Amino acid sequence: MRPGLDDRSPEAVAYRRLYGLAGWRGPNGRRTLHLKEHPLCARCLKRGIINDGSKRRDGSWQQNAKRRYLVVHHVEPHRGDERLFFEGPLETLCPDDHDIVAQQEEHGRVVEEVDPLTGFPYGE
Ligand SMILES: [Zn+2]
Repeated sequence: MRPGLDDRSPEAVAYRRLYGLAGWRGPNGRRTLHLKEHPLCARCLKRGIINDGSKRRDGSWQQNAKRRYLVVHHVEPHRGDERLFFEGPLETLCPDDHDIVAQQEEHGRVVEEVDPLTGFPYGE
């Protein structure tokens, strides 16, 4: 659930409905297939950390069992748009990295992660 989105609004209901569809979470759903192909956090990987959801973004073990999972994140915020939801680019993220991305989107901007050593975004 995105913070700030009204639970009761028709937009919120339609938005959440998408995540329950077999086309997303079923055995051949988009989320399921994406995780098979990309079973590691993409942002951790860029920092050289192999994270299958069992670690924090600094590479230490995730102590909180409720945060041991991976998020299939829509790179382009879909805001309930079915085309973007089912066809837009996806990225596997750990909960730590997803929190950061969601916060940036909440502020209406998508900020690339910057390498503190160079001051430039991490390369692919
Ligand atoms: Zn991560």
